Amino acid sequence: MTLSALTVPMLSDNYAWLLRDDATGALAFVDPADAEAGAAAVDAMGGKLDLILLTHHHDDHIAGADAMRKRYGARIVGAAADAHRLPRLDQSVTEGDTVAFSTFEGRVIDTPGHTVGHISYFFPDGPILFCGDTMFSLGCGRMFEGTAEQFFASFRKIAALPPETLICCGHEYTQSNARFALSIDPDNAMLRAKAAEVDRMRAAGQQTVPVRLGDELPVNPYLLARDAPSFGRIRSMKDSFKG
Ligand code: ZN
Ligand code: FE
Repeated sequence: MTLSALTVPMLSDNYAWLLRDDATGALAFVDPADAEAGAAAVDAMGGKLDLILLTHHHDDHIAGADAMRKRYGARIVGAAADAHRLPRLDQSVTEGDTVAFSTFEGRVIDTPGHTVGHISYFFPDGPILFCGDTMFSLGCGRMFEGTAEQFFASFRKIAALPPETLICCGHEYTQSNARFALSIDPDNAMLRAKAAEVDRMRAAGQQTVPVRLGDELPVNPYLLARDAPSFGRIRSMKDSFKG
């Protein structure tokens, strides 16, 4: 019984994800912004799309969901708190709820901060986390709706997952996140090595995600933040950072 997570690049810098049950070929699709690109990826993987998982209400994560449900008969799962601004949900979920996928089960984690209704999906059998725009490699999403207290608490929940967890996030922002992280933590040798590796990967046209949680813990400034006020301070410095 194994689960695989595959990136599906969309729009300019979005990552949607395919979760695959390697035994049966069953698929779940996370954050389908673009139905055409999504369908191409699903068909290339055998076309058995059962489930669509939505992390939050922004258009660059949901715009293709209805068309993909129609095409494959997949069920759409999303946050109960945001049901009014998501495509019609077949299952609305909140913290601690489980989502059945093939013979596996995902656990819903409320991760507000980027938006108030943002959720993440954790599959212990990966272990794999789909965290949308909550956490990025070396960064976090913009704080559009939530508070620093909420965002910090969301990061504490992610930090408590197994270190081998594969972090599957919603954007390729790693290189600009690295520039900012280095500006506030220049003596962090692991961060310097990570930033050099990211530069090398981007120059070679490679994706820098997914990443392992354990590799992010010593280098991601928001995982390193001691408390909510410092989290908020780092987030607002990033907003005005010209790197
Ligand atoms: Zn977003
Ligand atoms: Fe986004």
